[in-house]
Amino acid sequence: MKPVDRHLADILAVVRPLAPLEVEIDAALGAVLAEDVASPVPLPPFDNSAMDGYAVRAEDVAGAPVTLPVIGDVAAGDGGLNAVGPGLVARVMTGAPMPAGADAVVPVEWTDGGTARVRIDRPAPPGNAIRRAGEDVLAGETVLREGARIGAAQVGILAGAGRRRVRVRPRPRVVVLSTGAELAEPGTPLGAGQIWESNSFMLTAAVREAGAEAFRAGSVSDDPKEFLDVLDAQLLRADAVITSGGVSMGAYEPVKEALSPLGTVAFEKVAMQPGMPQGFGVVGPDRVPIFTLPGNPVSSFVSFVLFVRPALRAMQGLPVGPPEAVRATVTAPLRSPAGKRSYLRAVLTGRTVAPVTGQGSHQLAALAAANALIVVPEDVTSLPEGAEVEVIPL
Ligand code: AMP
Ligand code: MG
Repeated sequence: MKPVDRHLADILAVVRPLAPLEVEIDAALGAVLAEDVASPVPLPPFDNSAMDGYAVRAEDVAGAPVTLPVIGDVAAGDGGLNAVGPGLVARVMTGAPMPAGADAVVPVEWTDGGTARVRIDRPAPPGNAIRRAGEDVLAGETVLREGARIGAAQVGILAGAGRRRVRVRPRPRVVVLSTGAELAEPGTPLGAGQIWESNSFMLTAAVREAGAEAFRAGSVSDDPKEFLDVLDAQLLRADAVITSGGVSMGAYEPVKEALSPLGTVAFEKVAMQPGMPQGFGVVGPDRVPIFTLPGNPVSSFVSFVLFVRPALRAMQGLPVGPPEAVRATVTAPLRSPAGKRSYLRAVLTGRTVAPVTGQGSHQLAALAAANALIVVPEDVTSLPEGAEVEVIPL
């Protein structure tokens, strides 16, 4: 059997970061930056008031309470400004440029709010309530680096630094397709021998959680020809394809039957539980990577975490390492098959981890109750309660 790590290495040797493209910042959410972004000007671009109040010369209000004449208003957005001479003040709004001559802002709360003359009740030290030019970003300073994932705050600073378009690696478009003659769409009645189809929904959600764009192509029966037709039609919009089911050792394995003759997809036994039957390769003229995951829901989920998620990161130009793991003490004895790496569903609480009841690869409710996978190495077949184990938080 093929070691888990080698299977992942084979996958990562094939997938490539997607070509960068320029997008409107409006459309950049979730993408990964493919350039360093600097601000062309200091931010803020000019000294401005941090509060609604009065721009003053600090020395004029040192002896507060004082009453001083107001020469006029400076609103946010005002350009041409009168200087504030000795003994005078200007009313200023938040974001308004500081008028020349003034070196402090007295918040309106410290005054009587007058418009012709104002009584100022408290002194303000020089620099009070002034936001300095460049206090956030210096001119030419990098605000975001290549490789940063663009979230809401990152969209904010792109706009705040004046950028309209930005170079990104797009979110990979991933088609998700289930196979199985026994599968009924959730929301429809179950016929004899049927189960509700869950993998396409689960894997679509997993793709989105991984920061990629998912297209759920639903499910097809166990006819290899039907599978190939749907795959062909879906390839157009795919940077990657995930299938579930139809890759194990039985009869009626449509994915294996359809793709084996192409010679570009390898079907292998990987030394893991759950998820032993795995397939990976490329399809179509564009050589689109395809992950053919086993059909048991827990197997397909674990396979996604171990193989597909790292590949999607690589396609986004993000660093790829082994899944982040922690060490914890297990609350019950564990068993694991010899020669396979086990990924047991478990609940991690602080530094202890409890395996959930129901470790079958069909037991989706147990997976949904778990928040972690306990990793048991290939050469370990049992562990006592209290043993220290490696845990992958989900
Ligand atoms: P297969 O890999 O096609 O042999 O399927 C293995 C097991 O997983 C069978 O019990 C299938 O009924 C089940 N299974 C396969 N595909 C799905 C799916 N999309 N949703 C739920 N269960 C599935
Ligand atoms: Mg099947």
